[in-house]
Amino acid sequence: MTIYPEIEAFHGELTTLRRDIHKHPELAYEEHRTAELVADALESYGIEVTRGVGKTGVVGKLTSGGGNRAFGLRADMDALPMDEANDFAHKSVHEGAFHGCGHDGHTVMLLGAAKHLAETRDFDGTVYFIFQPAEEGGAGGKAMIDDGMFERFPMEAVFGMHNMPGLPVGHFAVRSGPMMASVANFDIDIEGVGGHGAMPHRCIDPVPVASEIVLALQNIVARTLDPIHAGVVSVTQIHGGSAYNVIPDKVRLSGCTRYFSDHDGKLIENRMRQIAENIAAAHGIKATLNYRENYPVLVNSAEETDHCVQAAADLVGAASVHVGIDPVMGSEDFAFMLKEKPGCYILIGNGDGQGGCMVHHPEYDFNDEVLPLGASYWVKLTESLLAHP
Ligand SMILES: [Zn+2]
Ligand SMILES: [Zn+2]
Repeated sequence: MTIYPEIEAFHGELTTLRRDIHKHPELAYEEHRTAELVADALESYGIEVTRGVGKTGVVGKLTSGGGNRAFGLRADMDALPMDEANDFAHKSVHEGAFHGCGHDGHTVMLLGAAKHLAETRDFDGTVYFIFQPAEEGGAGGKAMIDDGMFERFPMEAVFGMHNMPGLPVGHFAVRSGPMMASVANFDIDIEGVGGHGAMPHRCIDPVPVASEIVLALQNIVARTLDPIHAGVVSVTQIHGGSAYNVIPDKVRLSGCTRYFSDHDGKLIENRMRQIAENIAAAHGIKATLNYRENYPVLVNSAEETDHCVQAAADLVGAASVHVGIDPVMGSEDFAFMLKEKPGCYILIGNGDGQGGCMVHHPEYDFNDEVLPLGASYWVKLTESLLAHP
């Protein structure tokens, strides 16, 4: 593994910074302390900073040489609304907020790269350091785009990185094309006629109707979606009723769907609506589907993925860069940026870590061992994208 020795030299500083952010996690659009820390660090490296892009987002701009090419490197800063179950010195001091997805590590890896690139400036063109808010469900990447990020900071392509527990330290994984699923949330409201639990003939009970709908929804992936396409329809909540002897007048079903193309997303939504409305109609009542796409499909472009694979391979060797991995059913806010620009989102091994647990687990922790490698990856990628003519 070849890490930039100058970056390895400030590994301790990066670790201290990472643990400080971990200890003070902030939720979506509340990343005031983190954003200020990021902006201050960038300015201390001599990088031009714009604050408040997409509410709490920060963009750093570093130019070297006379070249007019420009690229963006993106990290996320927000924590999860959950409690931390770890018991170490850098444990979260905020109840209900926890860096359980490693965005503390992502932020610091990008800061490490910014520091090194600002010191060495061994590239020709402009690199933008993008620190986004609200990745965990708040669409902070979209907020930055809506705030004119790509017009204010014109760039050819944009790159992201996420840690992956279970993937060994010193390994990367990526695929060209669709890599992470689109997610949509839905509610189905079934309006029946409530009444006495002993007199169902005087009611139209929405509970069996809801049950039929739940079962019929399972047919969408099994019978409607092309069997070689992946998709998920999960009913994750059923709400209705308040007493043993009262037939409720309404039931709400809620859940999420996942898919890898806009076509499949529309297909799933349309079938859900048909199934819900028509099963309810068969019983003489009404069901209404409220369907909201949250994050789009994350699609890596081929040429930019090749660049990333090469940059990673230069550091860890081609055998440790896993190309063409299976797509992941999770979703990712960075998909919004990749809808606007070509680019690539890569996974970096977090190792077996704290008990080997996955992100979003209460005992997860970002692995500080990875910091200099992640920073080196950003530097390597920048120096290859913006190589001297
Ligand atoms: Zn997450
Ligand atoms: Zn994450």
